Amino acid sequence: MLEVANLRSGYGRIEALHGVSLTVAEGEIVTLVGGNGAGKTTLLRAISGVQPVSAGTIRFRGEPVERIDAWRRVGLGIAQVPEGRQVFAPLSVEDNLRLGAWSRRDGDIAADLETVYADFPVLREKRALAAGGLSGGQQQMLAIGRALMARPKLILLDEPSMGLAPILVEQVFAAIVALRARGLTVLLVEQNAVSALAIADRGYVIETGAITHEGAGRALLDDPKVREAYLGI
Ligand code: ATP
Repeated sequence: MLEVANLRSGYGRIEALHGVSLTVAEGEIVTLVGGNGAGKTTLLRAISGVQPVSAGTIRFRGEPVERIDAWRRVGLGIAQVPEGRQVFAPLSVEDNLRLGAWSRRDGDIAADLETVYADFPVLREKRALAAGGLSGGQQQMLAIGRALMARPKLILLDEPSMGLAPILVEQVFAAIVALRARGLTVLLVEQNAVSALAIADRGYVIETGAITHEGAGRALLDDPKVREAYLGI
């Protein structure tokens, strides 16, 4: 579904990604783990198209997309859940969800709202309230629901567990597993490497802009070198 090859990207003269390659197959959860400043967010933003790339290719379902505008990539089936949720705080929960569907021209938006409400009942309860008043965990569910309203094939999740209490982290990871069960493909960026690798089919470790390890989620979790160097266990 996604093939990133030799991708380079940066900020001004500072290069943040030094030729990153990774693949995500249809129906997989693939996680990209790594410390602060490793380049995880830069990579996700390059895939969704809000971060320019200087070299390399991004193929989505076989087609090169690295020169296509971000908003068009949404239409092709790539949706990003940004770091820090970025919900529209003064707008209602339901308006945030409707904005997720802005690029669609079909008439099934009401039905998809129902599906999101069925997945996340708390969003239905709070549908008329301002999104800024939700708890962190609820805002994360809203950010995921908003992305789902675009009817994506690939969903990019940037640190969905950040700042959440452990019980809510569990709920968010359960929601991600449920996305895969429904046939969605997931690329998950996390600093919470242990939890992310535990649910992932495959994982990549990124360090200062380069992939240093890759493998099955469990295999990376069990690799003593990875455990010591990257997981702090
Ligand atoms: P975090 O977990 O802290 O979000 P990350 O792995 O997502 O880290 P990035 O945010 O992609 O890392 O950052 C990669 C590198 O690019 C870092 O060295 C960072 O300082 C730099 N960087 C990120 N955003 C900018 C920016 N807007 N301007 C300049 N440099 C940036």
